[in-house]
Amino acid sequence: MEERSAATVTVDTAIVGSGFAGLGIAVKLDEAGRRDWLILEKGDTLGGTWRDNEYPGCACDVESHLYSFSFRQNPAWTRTFARQPEIRAYLEDVADHYRLRDRIRYGAHVTGAEWDGTAWDVRLADGTTVRARFVVFGTGALHDPSIPDIEGLDRFAGTAFHSARWDHSHDLRGKRVAVIGTGASAIQFVPAIAPDVESLTLFQRTAPWVLPKGDKPISDDARRRYRRFPLLQRLARTAIYWRHEALVAGFMNPRLMKAIGRVATTYLDRSFAKDPGLKAKVTPDFTIGCKRILLSNDYYPALRRDNVDVETTGIARVTETGVVTTDGVEHPCDTIVFGTGFRIADSLSRMTITGRDGAKLGDAWRGGMEALLGTTVAGFPNLFLLTGPNTGLGHSSMVLMIESQIPYVLDAMNTVDRHRATAIDTVRERQDDFNTEVQAKLEKAVWSQGGCGSWYLDEHGRNRTLWPGATFTYRRRTRRIDPADHVLL
Ligand code: NAP
Repeated sequence: MEERSAATVTVDTAIVGSGFAGLGIAVKLDEAGRRDWLILEKGDTLGGTWRDNEYPGCACDVESHLYSFSFRQNPAWTRTFARQPEIRAYLEDVADHYRLRDRIRYGAHVTGAEWDGTAWDVRLADGTTVRARFVVFGTGALHDPSIPDIEGLDRFAGTAFHSARWDHSHDLRGKRVAVIGTGASAIQFVPAIAPDVESLTLFQRTAPWVLPKGDKPISDDARRRYRRFPLLQRLARTAIYWRHEALVAGFMNPRLMKAIGRVATTYLDRSFAKDPGLKAKVTPDFTIGCKRILLSNDYYPALRRDNVDVETTGIARVTETGVVTTDGVEHPCDTIVFGTGFRIADSLSRMTITGRDGAKLGDAWRGGMEALLGTTVAGFPNLFLLTGPNTGLGHSSMVLMIESQIPYVLDAMNTVDRHRATAIDTVRERQDDFNTEVQAKLEKAVWSQGGCGSWYLDEHGRNRTLWPGATFTYRRRTRRIDPADHVLL
């Protein structure tokens, strides 16, 4: 890294974000001898989504043996589904173990980037420019909290916050709490806070499908065995991998989801056997899998508590003292917690990213986010997206996808160097063909056919987030770049 002036830093590769994606590629760049990189992290610590989401009860819904780097297995996981503090500590350990820390620049909020024909000028909010040949965005899709525009919210006299910006200074004990949203985050924090609050009104717009979570502590003995015999842990990981992969057929063919639907219905029946009224409220009306399948052992029990009410009437407005539903009833509350998810579709295009011939990424994505293999975008040379469009998963660990993209990005960089070229760009027709293929598959999948709306779909109803198939298929296609997909500049 060369610091040319206070305002300009020059590196070979600028990496945006220090979550799984940013740290993962940093490790592999070092291993490939490409040590001149800098991570630009807008926060003041590392960890991405596992730093931002620290709400009570926050945990992963994919088993930690799989939701971790294959190259840094952790024999010390204390639970099958680790909780947020342990995952965050794992990422800190990765940064220490691979000596990444001195090349992370905190408080580096990227506002845009411009390609000038030879390199990218990455602009930071503090006025610094980072000049880099290659730019890798590891910013993920879930970092920009979405708070609905509810009339009167600004007049609310109590405390209101989003689950990804949890206000730990606000004591919930004895408070009347309104929770808006019933997604993957809310089903984790509702059971965690329900025992402490005076009352909790859960505003549910759409009832989610919930399955029991096979979460349990990992015994000291088992951890000792994993430490002594790493192969055992690899076997455990492989077994988990294939159990998840077996679900793909169902997501791609909604009729096959019926079997999983029956398991969820049985769980619902058992959970609300004594309260058919509540069961009716929380019974989903779409095919399981259409929205993310939620795993929890304590969500349904929390809904059965005397101090918890599920409100299914829509929200009309917020007053100084509570939430008013469309039937005119006011639900008084001291605190509103938004479990309302994230702004997805345009999180990258809100930065000003200017590629070849002045093309703006925001304009290129006006009709929907598109990339080749979710990683490169025609007209934006030497720019790589980790967890880009259509690389998300409904069935397994995102770390698998990130680890598939990394060799692809490295191969692209090596190709540029091997040919003494300036840059590598994507052939637009190949990108278009790829997206036509992906969309054709997705049209038949449960996310489009299951009778629900979700953040997987953009405003045109197209699924721009998920990969339509097995993770091993994606891995095969990203093992190396296909020269026909790219041009060297
Ligand atoms: P989400 O899944 O997008 O859920 C948002 C919830 O808020 C939904 O129930 C939604 O209702 C509701 N909502 C949104 N706007 C509303 C409005 N104006 N009025 C009433 N309700 C409204 O968000 P999330 O729970 O934060 O999860 C986001 C993603 O993060 C997940 O899908 C998952 O990928 C990830 N996540 C993962 C884990 C993990 O364990 N690995 C944990 C948490 C989150 P509708 O359903 O009607 O839209």
